[in-house]
Amino acid sequence: MKVILVQDLLKANTDQALQNRSLFDEHRVIVINLISAPGSGKTTLLEKTLALIKDRLYVGVIEGDISTTRDAERIASQAIPVVQINTQGACHLDAQMVAQALLELPLKELDLIFIENVGNLVCPASFDLGEHCKVAVLSVTEGSDKPAKYPEIFLKAHAVVMSKTDLLPYIDFNMEDCVAEMQGINKNLNVFPTSSKMGTGMADWIEWLEKLVQEKRGEVDVPCCNGKSIGSSI
Ligand code: MG
Ligand code: ZN
Repeated sequence: MKVILVQDLLKANTDQALQNRSLFDEHRVIVINLISAPGSGKTTLLEKTLALIKDRLYVGVIEGDISTTRDAERIASQAIPVVQINTQGACHLDAQMVAQALLELPLKELDLIFIENVGNLVCPASFDLGEHCKVAVLSVTEGSDKPAKYPEIFLKAHAVVMSKTDLLPYIDFNMEDCVAEMQGINKNLNVFPTSSKMGTGMADWIEWLEKLVQEKRGEVDVPCCNGKSIGSSI
């Protein structure tokens, strides 16, 4: 009987992730892995973000879902190159799935790729896809104790987008405490409070993304992840 240990699976994943990352670097394309619990508003954030930057940057999207192509259809309606990965039950994307999806994207022309991971705050944090930055999305309706309960993703992320801030007047959520808790786990974390619905906070988030792309092209020297170099998200 052959027993495959989790460590072996993770090692195989890390090897493929390294290959993905060198492919991205060769094409000077920045790749963001968006991770959150289901229903935090990842796809809506992505739609609003794309609408704001698609005139300036050439962006592609990889959509991970357990089933359906609904999110990919929403993105494709903006004339963005998009590939849907259906994981057939798996609760996270792995580097091999992403490698396959990349064959369908015009890598040479792209400046930026968003990978929308399967809605799940736990194991996507452990699977390197070859991205340069992990970005967690945390909606204010999830409660301010999420970072303490799921610390791994907050430790590994370069940035957190706080979504649905337009709902703050109706709920018991202490933004200051939550941000302090996240930065207690990871002091380098960039935090962007946003409302996709109202458009608030989007400018700072977009500016951060544009800086990443400029850094990749060698147009700026200043590290934009508060000193944490991009690509160190393993
Ligand atoms: Mg989605
Ligand atoms: Zn999983």
